[in-house]
Amino acid sequence: MVYQKSTSSSKHFLITGGAGFIGSHLAEALLESGQRVTVLDDLSTGRFENIAHLVGHPRFRFAIDSITNAVVLDRLASECHVIVHLAAAVGVQLIVERPVHTIETNIMGSEAVLQAAARYRAKVLIASTSEVYGKGVRVPFSEDDDVVLGPTSKSRWAYAASKMVDEFLALAYYREKGLPTIIARLFNTVGPRQRGRYGMVIPRFVSQALQGEPITVYGDGQQSRCFCDVSDVVRALMGLAEHPQAVGRVFNVGSTEEVSILELAQRVKAITGSDSPIEFIPYDQAYAPGFEDMRRRVPDTTRIRRLLDWEPRVSLDEILARVAASLAS
Ligand code: UDP
Repeated sequence: MVYQKSTSSSKHFLITGGAGFIGSHLAEALLESGQRVTVLDDLSTGRFENIAHLVGHPRFRFAIDSITNAVVLDRLASECHVIVHLAAAVGVQLIVERPVHTIETNIMGSEAVLQAAARYRAKVLIASTSEVYGKGVRVPFSEDDDVVLGPTSKSRWAYAASKMVDEFLALAYYREKGLPTIIARLFNTVGPRQRGRYGMVIPRFVSQALQGEPITVYGDGQQSRCFCDVSDVVRALMGLAEHPQAVGRVFNVGSTEEVSILELAQRVKAITGSDSPIEFIPYDQAYAPGFEDMRRRVPDTTRIRRLLDWEPRVSLDEILARVAASLAS
């Protein structure tokens, strides 16, 4: 099946990594808003189950392939108006365990997507990450802040560095070649379909609580994060992809409701009615010796709020209830 670029108001989106957690929710929301969607995913961390319910939809198409397949990527890019580039190596655990894969997937993947987009003048929205703020301690983080990364001897920072290269490259394509590119720096995003296998704390805590296993808090649990529901993140991505003034700019996307990891464990216990004990695990044991964690990670969301009037709508308790419902079913 070949889709041509049409001149009607409905747009054709290509979502790389569209069978993943965020991509599958985005695909669903775009279809609901009348757009056409092609998902390109090699199912390395994405899962067919995430998009199985979309297969057969007249405006949906799925290609199982890697973004490094230049022929496939070229064809798909030629047919779409907007590429949302979500295909990346994600999750702190994966990054520590497979640094070569992480660096190569992130940098080469984005390079391939930008090159293909440039041939057909497709708009590109690149999903970046709050990891690029590195060890910064001055919160909230705003888009133009300086960044401080740890040494190259610590694998964790390879992820931040690789995503920074992606951002530089996307901005370079905009400045030098006039390609419309947008960067969304996603902070901790959660919701149904996210799995704890690659380290993500909320699905891990919720499954531990549901199974009555110890809830594993790393370090002293005083580190904090802000968790944003995937539906809010998807709304932000769609708004950015649509807005002409988003082009050539970087946007933080995340919640500002800050919670310590220990408090999160307690809230998960309360919401699931679990009597799992809370177990503290030293970082060295949880990840790798010398692992460095961020103490706080809070976005300054002024920029996206001003442009789109965007704010998260789903509270942390509601997020936990939704994740618990999806994992219990
Ligand atoms: N974490 C934890 N227990 C777990 C998994 C994660 O205490 O079983 C902590 C982790 O060390 C970090 C926070 O929860 O401080 C968020 O971890 P996640 O991997 O979800 O995202 P990050 O913010 O590190 O990218």
